[in-house]
Amino acid sequence: MVLLAFLLGTIFASFINLYVLRFLRGESIIFPRSHCDNCNHTLNWYELIPIVSYLALKGKCKCCKQKIGITSLIAELFLGFAFSLVYMIYGYSINTLIGFLLASTLLAISISDFKEMIILDSTLITSTLLSYILIYLEFGLRGIYKSFLYGVFGFVLFFLVKLIGDKVYKRESLGGGDVKLAFLMGSILPYNLFLIAIIIGSLVALPYALIMSLYKKKELPFGPFLALGLFIVFLFKNGIANFVNTILIIEKIFL
Ligand SMILES: [Zn+2]
Repeated sequence: MVLLAFLLGTIFASFINLYVLRFLRGESIIFPRSHCDNCNHTLNWYELIPIVSYLALKGKCKCCKQKIGITSLIAELFLGFAFSLVYMIYGYSINTLIGFLLASTLLAISISDFKEMIILDSTLITSTLLSYILIYLEFGLRGIYKSFLYGVFGFVLFFLVKLIGDKVYKRESLGGGDVKLAFLMGSILPYNLFLIAIIIGSLVALPYALIMSLYKKKELPFGPFLALGLFIVFLFKNGIANFVNTILIIEKIFL
């Protein structure tokens, strides 16, 4: 079953990669069929198998030998492993479907935000709608109500940070996409875990920002790191919640 989760992840990844790249280029999602960007050779079914095709073709187009970007291979491996991890932790449950959704969202956001510094609205709308359907299936109407309140909390918090940040730095501090992403983060996680997700995302973003500052890059994407924090905290939410409770108990004993 873990292998099945891995395969599902690789298939999702190749669709997400194709979809985001075409969307960024302003092309249609369905037509034309997948083709080589250099010589327009339409890809056969055996050139479309995730990972396998890339390795078999040694990363080159069959016709013109043009190099195929390695992004797709990395994306497929990443989502394959992410889906496997989710399945190993949550097994046969709604939580697994939410985990698959969050991993896919993380991938879609990473591709568009690292490439073009934007988070596509279509990514956020799709993810948020699907997550609310899953929340409804797991927790019913009450769950939706709670998630929505927490979502608004996240959105307002980020909106205020952006408002203040824009004034202080006199340029865009947080992107509009990050603020909308905060709504999804709040909807999935209760506020204490939501804050931990932001901290984890920032901790991972910090070394990246330091390295990029060496290259004098000023504008950095934050969305992928937020989405990563969300995914990690969602995966280990039970452990993290226990950890936080333990600390609170220790605090009560000593203070
Ligand atoms: Zn070609």
